[in-house]
Amino acid sequence: MNIKRLQESLEKLNEYTDGGPGINRLAYTNTEKQAKEYLKGLFEQEGLMVKMDAVGNIIARREGANPDLSSVAIGSHIDSVYEAGRFDGTVGVMTGLELIRSMNEQSITTEHPVEVISFASEESSRFGMATMGSKAMAGLLNPEDISDLTDKDDISLKDAFREHSLDIDKMHEARRSSREFKSFLELHIEQGPVLENEDKQIGIVTGIAGPTRFTLQISGQASHSGTTPMGYRHDALLGASEVALALESIAHSEASNDTVATIGVCEVKPGGMNIVPGEVDLKVDIRGTSAASREKVVTYLFNTIKSVERSRQLTITSSKLADEPSVDMSEDTIASLQEICDSNDYAYRLMPSGAGHDAMNMARLCPAGLVFIPSKNGVSHNPEEFTSWEQIETGINLMESQVLKSAKIVE
Ligand SMILES: [Zn+2]
Repeated sequence: MNIKRLQESLEKLNEYTDGGPGINRLAYTNTEKQAKEYLKGLFEQEGLMVKMDAVGNIIARREGANPDLSSVAIGSHIDSVYEAGRFDGTVGVMTGLELIRSMNEQSITTEHPVEVISFASEESSRFGMATMGSKAMAGLLNPEDISDLTDKDDISLKDAFREHSLDIDKMHEARRSSREFKSFLELHIEQGPVLENEDKQIGIVTGIAGPTRFTLQISGQASHSGTTPMGYRHDALLGASEVALALESIAHSEASNDTVATIGVCEVKPGGMNIVPGEVDLKVDIRGTSAASREKVVTYLFNTIKSVERSRQLTITSSKLADEPSVDMSEDTIASLQEICDSNDYAYRLMPSGAGHDAMNMARLCPAGLVFIPSKNGVSHNPEEFTSWEQIETGINLMESQVLKSAKIVE
């Protein structure tokens, strides 16, 4: 394992970015296409079979002693959000590359083939759908879910595919079967503050939280802010505030289950300084790996809504935007990762992932594992995103041990 070599390749990869602060390498753009070509070249230099599949995933395969055996796969993504950091996704893909280089250097032969996968369009920034590449691979993508997707410049996904030398009508060909995989592993930056604050080098993810999302429309009575005495008001924003604070308090009480709740969108209408708010639209995002805990938060939220409606004489309507199950990581993989951490004295903790990752879709195909390394100040999706090379090195060492254990070295 050569961290300097990985650093150089990762920095080169990050030269493929459109202008502006941070990294701008959005899915299916020309810049991302060039980055994929660069990546492909690196794997080809290592003597691997490399292909781009029907959804734009890059798959590099190092044959095993027995090519009929299922693959041990490792991967992440190289597409980015707008004004992204340098490490989100890229660390996981470059880890795969470094493992291959290291295996080649040591002339290691494995029983099982090893695949490195760079998943297409993991970020939802361009087309509004996240983890598209791994969804397609796991057979979780319906043609009707994607046929109407467009970006902010009204470019359709179909046209973006064509620019990428892909045919959207053939996307189903990216689907693979469970039989092809023995296991999947992903190394990713945490994108949160926990590891750094607890002084841990490694986070072994137990499950990936599913989101439950609602829009709430709170209707009161818009009126003159000067002439409507306090006792005569039906202020929608004050109702929304009560709902928001109640949501915070129930989520706090569910902290031991790692459930979190957020209201990230609040639109006040008509939105005048001299008008008592008549309507407020909220977007609520509740996430957790415990379905029971999430349910408890939702129930409390709707009880609060009823009581706020009564006490403030407001009308609150809701519609559910999403309710996705959480995904467990493989218990065997978790145990094996723990064992490696223990024997190498890596400071680690078990933790949930609040964010979605490609590993959650790959978990449909095979036992999957997800490992986090610390993010400085918990910052991500931001040019300030930072993980030290030393921290990355620990992550790679763990991945290397796990991949070799799973793929089995031929003595
Ligand atoms: Zn990512």
